[in-house]
Amino acid sequence: MPLINETHQANLQSWLPSAQPTGIDFPIQNLPFASFKRKDNGRATCGVAIGDQIIDLSILSTKDLLSGLALEAAKAASSHQLNALMALGTAYWSALRLALSRALRSDASALVQAQLAECLVAQSQVEYALPAQIGDYTDFYTSVHHATNIGKLFRPDNPLLPNYKWVPIGYHGRASSIGVSGQSFVRPKGQIMPPGATEPIFGASKRLDIELELGIFVGAGNALGQPIAMTQAEDHVFGICLLNDWSARDLQAWEYQPLGPFLAKNFASTISPWVVTLEALAPYRVAFNRPESDPQPMAYLDSAHNREQGAFDIQLQVNYLTPQMKQSGLAASTICQTSYQHAYWTIAQMVTHHTVNGCNLQAGDLLGSGTLSGPTLDQAGALIELTAGGKNPITLANGETRTFLEDGDTIILKAWCEKSGAARIGFGECVGTVLPAK
Ligand code: MN
Repeated sequence: MPLINETHQANLQSWLPSAQPTGIDFPIQNLPFASFKRKDNGRATCGVAIGDQIIDLSILSTKDLLSGLALEAAKAASSHQLNALMALGTAYWSALRLALSRALRSDASALVQAQLAECLVAQSQVEYALPAQIGDYTDFYTSVHHATNIGKLFRPDNPLLPNYKWVPIGYHGRASSIGVSGQSFVRPKGQIMPPGATEPIFGASKRLDIELELGIFVGAGNALGQPIAMTQAEDHVFGICLLNDWSARDLQAWEYQPLGPFLAKNFASTISPWVVTLEALAPYRVAFNRPESDPQPMAYLDSAHNREQGAFDIQLQVNYLTPQMKQSGLAASTICQTSYQHAYWTIAQMVTHHTVNGCNLQAGDLLGSGTLSGPTLDQAGALIELTAGGKNPITLANGETRTFLEDGDTIILKAWCEKSGAARIGFGECVGTVLPAK
């Protein structure tokens, strides 16, 4: 199936006024999915964003607008979360996308427009839930720049471990503490080994950090014992959201050897409500380049498709909002801007490597990309890198400085794709706030 189709055409226009302006996140070419509930009615259901509205898929599936696979897909999404839709696979997701695209176009019939209008809910009138029941969460480490920067701070003599350029490194994280944008979480406490001390102390983390990541939602899973080959890997991916993997660096430094992150990471992780499908991202695929001087991916992690267009040029941004900025009504201060195209391993390689030993992925599983730092320091996706381990505070737009997160601070992640000849699409926001330790 061709990756680019009629739903990607940059000149498509919707009859919906709020989907018209350029520069918005949710034009007719995007059509991302979320779970939401109306503020005046507690029932959660799934929907698709268009302009400043949501198409309620549980209402849509009762109308006479869809048929075939698209109707089956909308029925599967007439649930409080997206797992059943995710499990159906690419043919269903694609059929629903095409049907919605056609029904939203300015040349749709008056009857179609009237029926679809009855399915719309204003985004301002809803609260979001987690898009899926996340059975398992695995966090990767796919930025070689982040791995090198962090490695220098944790192991100055041995920054990048020798396995990094061969193995897509990851660890199994905790799904229960993943929350949706708007999440507030309590500053974690734990064991900390102060510099120069011989025994650890117990207390609240003083080096609480962010991690700018993308979250990859698994669609149809695989049976236990049945690896997913590179040529099929992307068929098992439903879409991508934003992910902030909050990290307590002082807890991490003391606990991480020998088995990796544990309490430094599992107290909270925040994702954006909207999941942008891989199909919507097709115009933003780019070649996956591995420097010639580096080991090339082993055969099981290689494919022609992956080399030609396995990476994605997604613009990523971290914005910082302090309590003082909130009080003064100031806008958040941008502290990092980078692109996903710098990642050392692709989404397909993450899926294939995760299953190569027979491990089974399930619909709704979440794979974190790892902190997506780019090649230069202003492209670093964590405070520990931006401040050189807390030594060089960053200065925000209003003159305040920070090394690590302070109580009341809010972080807003954003992502979008744009280039000439394609419609700009966005991911919305991923917002989280630190509460004082208890
Ligand atoms: Mn992480």
